[in-house]
Amino acid sequence: AVQIKDMNKWFGEFHVLKDVNLEVRRGERIVICGPSGSGKSTMIRCINRLEEFQKGSVTVDGIPLTNDLKRIDEVRREVGMVFQHFNLFPHLTVLENCTLAPIWVRKMPKKEAEERAMAFLDRVKIPHQAKKYPGQLSGGQQQRVAIARALCMNPKIMLFDEPTSALDPEMVKEVLDTMVSLANDGMTMLCVTHEMGFARQVADRVIFMDAGQIVEMNEPNAFFSHPQHERTKQFLSQIL
Ligand code: ATP
Ligand code: MG
Repeated sequence: AVQIKDMNKWFGEFHVLKDVNLEVRRGERIVICGPSGSGKSTMIRCINRLEEFQKGSVTVDGIPLTNDLKRIDEVRREVGMVFQHFNLFPHLTVLENCTLAPIWVRKMPKKEAEERAMAFLDRVKIPHQAKKYPGQLSGGQQQRVAIARALCMNPKIMLFDEPTSALDPEMVKEVLDTMVSLANDGMTMLCVTHEMGFARQVADRVIFMDAGQIVEMNEPNAFFSHPQHERTKQFLSQIL
């Protein structure tokens, strides 16, 4: 579904991504972990061109990411993204948050967009909040709206950037449960998270990033019980 080849990115002089190579197959679930500043967010933001990169290539579902703006829009339509800080539109209701892009980007009739949105809100277990504004919801509920909103665009792949790290502990589980159910439905997922229980439960592969490089990549059992690199061992000993 996604192919990243020799991706290199600089912020000015700072070489933030160094020869990153990653292939995500359809239906695959990948968890990315690593220390703060290692380039995890930057890498996944490059996949839908929220960030530009200077060298290498990214292909999403066969569409190469070039400077062609039309192509970038095509890719963005296929890629759902969920951020740490929900990024909902505060002045729109939950339902409006979910129907905005389908109506304006996909040109879907309003009624159809609303029906689909309600189905996804039902799926993330908050259909009763549809008429509320984001500010009236808990963090966990807002994050589930953000997931429903992304799903309304019918994405082929979902990118998550630390979706639970801004949440109070009691709300983490409801968001993780939503992500697990999405994974069980076969969604292709690339998740930056330090929720290692989630990684063990659903990940096909776990990636450890450090200093702009993929240092280690393995299936979860081997990754957690036999980390190969010193830096991975060190990192795991701090978070487990
Ligand atoms: P965290 O776990 O804290 O979210 P991360 O692995 O997601 O960290 P990134 O946000 O990708 O790390 O940042 C990687 C590095 O790039 C950091 O050193 C950061 O300071 C730097 N960086 C990120 N965004 C910019 C920017 N817009 N301009 C300059 N430097 C940046
Ligand atoms: Mg980050």
